Amino acid sequence: MKKILVTGALGQIGTELVMKLRDVYGDQNVVATDIRQVDNDVVNSGPFEVLDVTDADKMFEVAKKYEVDSIIHLAALLSATAEKNPLLAWNLNMGGLVNALEVARELKCQFFTPSSIGAFGPTTPKDNTPQDTIQRPTTMYGVNKVAGELLCDYYFYKFGVDTRGLRFPGLISYVAPPGGGTTDYAVEIYYKALQEGKYTSYIAKGTYMDMMYMPDALNAIIDLMEADASKLKHRNSFNVTAMSFDPEEIAAEIRKHIPSFELDYDVDPVRQSIAESWPNSIDATCAKEEWGFKAEYDLTKMTEDMLTKLREKLSV
Ligand code: NAD
Repeated sequence: MKKILVTGALGQIGTELVMKLRDVYGDQNVVATDIRQVDNDVVNSGPFEVLDVTDADKMFEVAKKYEVDSIIHLAALLSATAEKNPLLAWNLNMGGLVNALEVARELKCQFFTPSSIGAFGPTTPKDNTPQDTIQRPTTMYGVNKVAGELLCDYYFYKFGVDTRGLRFPGLISYVAPPGGGTTDYAVEIYYKALQEGKYTSYIAKGTYMDMMYMPDALNAIIDLMEADASKLKHRNSFNVTAMSFDPEEIAAEIRKHIPSFELDYDVDPVRQSIAESWPNSIDATCAKEEWGFKAEYDLTKMTEDMLTKLREKLSV
């Protein structure tokens, strides 16, 4: 990766990834794009272009203008939002992806896009979910992610595009808010713990999902993009995870720092049924073996860091 185009760069991942990539590869070598523009470091610290990923011509134009050799495609509608507007999700998630892959094919770019634990479904083995297994998701987001994984494989086998991907679990971070996923509760709970001392969870007690702290997710993207291609038996997309917990376990960890913290429940049937269709915990052995994936943060270390960083951010 020398000159990288990032789509959806103002979201939860992009906001931190762009700054990290600019640290590693140089400010001018990371072109951030999004359908919207805001006044923040991503827009102000290097090249930024307004780009709707469903506009293929504009994507070609921006990629050519900056002579990029890598594309990190992040623009998408996330699981809970996609379930509210499935047709929009199909058009954005599949339309944007195929446009980005076409740019990568034509301009011979390396290509990365995230998949998700949402690519699994109710018939997938729930515990220690293997890399290669049944993928029959029941959400529009999941349908998009499975189709996306297959499409990226197709572009690799058919056209030789160097496509790579990760099946991210729920990502927890304090810089940019999450964009409408099923695991967002695990971010909100930290904000509410500090601001109000209590949280009402829309995910039920006993519902386990995989999670990862953002610094580990950013390292995983860069490590996979830099990995030796000859060692990759898989490409789209690697299981990666750092921890699996339910609302009670994260609350117990928060209580080590805020003993009076209270958790209660008002379960949202839509997001709960999405969560129940996903694995309890996935197996990341292939990512470890093929390109050395490792996560630094477990629930304890992440909770300490989240609360410290959020205290500074929220001045509480
Ligand atoms: P997000 O919702 O926070 O950000 C998405 C960004 O895309 C937003 O800034 C939005 O403005 C932009 N966008 C929306 N429509 C667009 C369009 N038509 N053209 C260009 N930009 C558009 O999402 P995120 O959490 O940063 O996720 C990025 C990717 O990672 C997605 O593919 C998502 O499915 C995947 N992922 C995220 C998580 C997570 O927990 N955040 C977990 C698994 C996978």
